[in-house]
Amino acid sequence: MARITIIGAGAAGIFGAINIATKNPDAEVVVLEKSSKLLSKVKISGGGRCNVTNVCQEPKELIKNYPRGNKKLKKAFEQFGTVDTVNWFESRGVKLKAEADGRMFPITDDSQTIIDCLLNECKKHKVEIRTKVSVESIEKTDNGFLLDIKGAEKIECDKILIATGGHNKIEGFQWLMDLEHSISEPVPSLFTFNLPKSSLTNLLGVAVQDVEVKIAGTKLSHQGPLLITHWGLSRSCST
Ligand SMILES: Cc1cc2nc3c(=O)[nH]c(=O)nc-3n(C[C@H](O)[C@H](O)[C@H](O)COP(=O)(O)OP(=O)(O)OC[C@H]3O[C@@H](n4cnc5c(N)ncnc54)[C@H](O)[C@@H]3O)c2cc1C
Repeated sequence: MARITIIGAGAAGIFGAINIATKNPDAEVVVLEKSSKLLSKVKISGGGRCNVTNVCQEPKELIKNYPRGNKKLKKAFEQFGTVDTVNWFESRGVKLKAEADGRMFPITDDSQTIIDCLLNECKKHKVEIRTKVSVESIEKTDNGFLLDIKGAEKIECDKILIATGGHNKIEGFQWLMDLEHSISEPVPSLFTFNLPKSSLTNLLGVAVQDVEVKIAGTKLSHQGPLLITHWGLSRSCST
């Protein structure tokens, strides 16, 4: 029986584990998570509502929203796109709805609906999830891999899916570079817009539906809903 280990119980790891287990019903699929919580970012995503996907169905349009890696993402979206995402959740009893700006949320407006669906699928496909298991390094062996676990015995497996999320510093990926993977320098992608000294913040609470925001002296601009907060600018409904 093939032993497939997924490192990280975030959205990527759990969704990956479900798909691996579905397509390899005889494999032993185990997810290792260093914290005590599963899908913790999914829980807080979309202001607790979880912005699951977008109404945009065309991969070549969708990738315009990704400043880096858009060519690679196009291939991934062609394999499994926004329509597949909507169908995947609907066929498991989770209906999604679209909002005026194209974002799609569960009709419950509660990210827990998405978490429950993903964890039910894990149960259905016998995915084992172990928490408080931190993988420190990976060693390649003749037959597979040996995982070094913090304060516990090593774990052997045949295949690995690494889904450990992002890091703001390249050093966070050293353990993968040790395996001769090349890693691109991380850059921030989604962040809050702090304007600490701007009198604009006096308008906190004001939301406007269709705004174009530009950064003076650059070509950077964006259009969409805007909320003025006590610290600066946000989308009128957080992503
Ligand atoms: C406030 C906020 C709101 C967001 N809203 C949205 C939204 O509405 N829609 C949307 O699409 N995206 C949203 N995002 C982004 C989205 O949450 C992330 O892109 C997504 O959750 C990343 O999933 P991941 O599985 O790649 O990584 P993560 O969720 O970071 O999961 C990685 C997991 O791996 C574990 N791990 C790391 N290293 C190890 C190790 N060595 N051994 C074992 N386990 C390890 C971590 O503990 C973690 O649980 C939001 C993010 C934030 C912070």
